Amino acid sequence: MALETIIKNGLVVNGTGNPWFKADVGISEGKIARVGRLGDVKADKIIDAKGLVVSPGFIDIHTHSDLSLLINPRAESKIRQGVTTEVVGNCGTSPAPVKNENLELLKDEWGDEAKAVKWNWSSFGDYLHRMEEQGVSLNVAALVGHGAVRTAVVGVEDRAPTSKELAEMKALVAQSMEEGAFGLSTGLVYLPGCFAKTPELIELSKVAASYGGFYASHTRGERETIITALKEAIEIGEKARIPIQVSHNCPKYGGHGRFKEMSRLYEAARKRGIELTIDNDAHTDLGPHLSSILPQWAQAGGPKKVIERLKDPDTREKIKSEIVSDKLPGPGYCGLVKHGRWDRVFLFQAKMNKQLIGKSFEQIAKMRGADPFDAYFDVLIEEKGEASGIFNYIDDVDIRAVMKHHLMMFCSDGSAVAPYGVLGKISGYYPCSYGEYPYILERFVREEKVLTLQEAIRKMTSFPAQKLGLLDRGLVKEGMWADITVFNPDKIKDRATCRFPYKFPLVNYPHKYPEGIAYVLVNGEIVVEKDKHTGALPGKVLRHHHRHEKASE
Ligand SMILES: [Zn+2]
Repeated sequence: MALETIIKNGLVVNGTGNPWFKADVGISEGKIARVGRLGDVKADKIIDAKGLVVSPGFIDIHTHSDLSLLINPRAESKIRQGVTTEVVGNCGTSPAPVKNENLELLKDEWGDEAKAVKWNWSSFGDYLHRMEEQGVSLNVAALVGHGAVRTAVVGVEDRAPTSKELAEMKALVAQSMEEGAFGLSTGLVYLPGCFAKTPELIELSKVAASYGGFYASHTRGERETIITALKEAIEIGEKARIPIQVSHNCPKYGGHGRFKEMSRLYEAARKRGIELTIDNDAHTDLGPHLSSILPQWAQAGGPKKVIERLKDPDTREKIKSEIVSDKLPGPGYCGLVKHGRWDRVFLFQAKMNKQLIGKSFEQIAKMRGADPFDAYFDVLIEEKGEASGIFNYIDDVDIRAVMKHHLMMFCSDGSAVAPYGVLGKISGYYPCSYGEYPYILERFVREEKVLTLQEAIRKMTSFPAQKLGLLDRGLVKEGMWADITVFNPDKIKDRATCRFPYKFPLVNYPHKYPEGIAYVLVNGEIVVEKDKHTGALPGKVLRHHHRHEKASE
């Protein structure tokens, strides 16, 4: 057999969890044709991988690249980490299906990225087709978001769907599954997912189950209520008879120390035959806009409106009391503010208060002789609503415990971005988008030895492939698609994460590619070669091959 490419002399970590072995890997027609000592077998291209690890390309099971891959199909920040397949549509948020009358509502949910894309699809299949026509550097598998389905039918209203609406939502899920979705996702702390009650989610999950899909959930709470929220996810899986993927299931500040109890629930669910797995990224922080801790109603209308509200003493008090109340689920990082941990909330990007960048809001409050809440809101006003913070909202011990759990696989929870073009202008802190996988391999494998190399690779490759039913990816093995990452295990280095305690300014951190990744191949084609993107777009838009087993009632 004529080989197109041979990767020679590498240390093959094949994705099964076994230690490396020395072998050459021969590629033909997009697939791995030979694994073994190939001697002087000829090929068009020979890659010398002496001293380098040859592993399956990483499968990032939890991302938000749905629109960014349309904005920049080269998937720069992901492919350069060694990611060869991304799963989009997580946390309830997918850009399809969409109905014309509610298009603007859905666009709002997507923020800045929505403005950079021409929305010319309506069904889920149309969206996948659009991605396919445009081309993409890595493979894409997509989930259908409950939030998108609900927005299309109910809008962003705080009420249950009527029975007619529920039937319509079920039909949209069914159609999306027919057209290739791998499952249904929810984001139950976000609009409009937070308005859905458990029975609605069970009904929709039953539809996804009938097509052999899975249920991926950003649960209703990840802090104080993380246990109740996990129980709801398990109940949905059990009643709908659908495999569960609990998204980024690591306790956030306020839920610290609950992981043991969570694992007991995982194990009990498994004992009852529920196919439950979890994913998580390895970062403890996030860099959101300062305004994003406000209740949804207080964020509405853009920065001008936000400032008006914060300037009004009564409204300001109302906002404060809602943030600390138990009513507001809010994203994980809000837990720091709720519990007054202003020492872990830092000013990251600001124009008017440059001298305060890198200071915690505890320090800023002291300097100003103000209450931290007021210092935070005042900075937001001074910055005209345009400033961001860094929230260190997860404890390292929890990250390590989750990482070692046998039901856990890695993900980035970030989207593919790039230092140039439209995506480069969206400034912020993107450690996951640029450095997730190198960070894990550098810190938790090489430096701290929390996991062996082969175990970490398994959690990045064959384990997510199994969850997705991608039985022809995720392993370096003859017959598999040639999605391959070649890296130096001693030199792999993430340059986008600022480790805690922070060394400010962090100006050097955003938008930096990792080091130590020599080659990335997707479907046999070289996309990254010695730190350069080749411009190739060999990615496939994958469709879930459903078995269409009707769930027995
Ligand atoms: Zn999420």
